[in-house]
Amino acid sequence: MSFAVIRSIRDGFRMDEHSSEVVAAIQATIMASQLCQKIRKALTGKESILKSDRSPVTVADFGSQAIICKFIREKFPNDTIVAEEDSTELRKPGYSKILEQVTHYVHDFIPDASPEKVSAWIDYSSHFTKVRFWTLDPIDGTKGFLRGDQYAIALALIENGIVKLGLMACPNLYVDKDQPDGNRGCVFLAMKGKGSFQMDLRGGGKQPLSVSKTETPSQALFTESVEPDHADHLFHQRLAQKLNIAKPPLRMDSQAKYGIVARGEATLYLRVPSPSEPGYKENIWDHAAGSIIAEEAGGKVTDTLGNPLDFSSGIKMKKNHGILVTNGILHDVVLNALKM
Ligand code: AMP
Ligand code: MG
Repeated sequence: MSFAVIRSIRDGFRMDEHSSEVVAAIQATIMASQLCQKIRKALTGKESILKSDRSPVTVADFGSQAIICKFIREKFPNDTIVAEEDSTELRKPGYSKILEQVTHYVHDFIPDASPEKVSAWIDYSSHFTKVRFWTLDPIDGTKGFLRGDQYAIALALIENGIVKLGLMACPNLYVDKDQPDGNRGCVFLAMKGKGSFQMDLRGGGKQPLSVSKTETPSQALFTESVEPDHADHLFHQRLAQKLNIAKPPLRMDSQAKYGIVARGEATLYLRVPSPSEPGYKENIWDHAAGSIIAEEAGGKVTDTLGNPLDFSSGIKMKKNHGILVTNGILHDVVLNALKM
């Protein structure tokens, strides 16, 4: 990233108590998104492994986590980073080729990258939260990434259970909500009490965001996961019928769904737990950045029972059941309909 862009980011946030965190988070996320785009373009099908829960993890997930953890640790040596991945699988002899690939891509951003150092940078992360900590999903929506659909690099700063800062890079998301076939690549940013913004993938063109003003459910557009195992599509459909929502759902991978609510494109984001895993507890890194981005744009975010999201009980949101994101105006109407 050029010095001029870094300076303009810094100038834009100079007065904020978290201004150095904002600048570092933008820089780290943008580097990771460049790495992900490069890997995405070169995908051959040999870049992913299956984790013990059968979910995929790719060279890009590891590379993104290595870059962001290294960068944040260097700037804030006392901070804890709670990120999704670790290097356990990567260090196994059978995956040495994957580790070599990760190192190759990280090397473009950090010239002294070696397999050993890259593994160590990935492991700067732990799964223990503190009073102040960062949480990172190096690639949210890995299945979307592999399909060539949406994915997000999501980084948030949490203090005393409150999300203070959220950054989300969506390299494959169209910039203009009215031109889905137009240019792609967005960075969303929100700070507590300071609003929500969209920028381009170089950190320029900062625009404030606000949610849709739709007051009638029949005119609402709702968004949901692509993966049927991540949300109850059938229940969503019945709920939409009950609310007379006429438009079909916009299915999208990753926390990009929070971004499209924040910019007024979708009115609601529904995430009722799938019947395949009804007791599923959400991970903090899957919602921290997205939720502040929707809230600071004027939206409301709770679980499907109306409870605030719980970022203070470790890596799992143990006190929550599903997720509901709205433009605020329609929140109570949808919460009531959810009681069906
Ligand atoms: P999405 O792209 O919105 O479908 O969300 C992707 C995220 O869903 C991944 O990062 C996973 O952590 C998470 N996930 C995995 N299994 C489930 C599940 N059974 N229910 C809800 N979310 C899940
Ligand atoms: Mg995720």
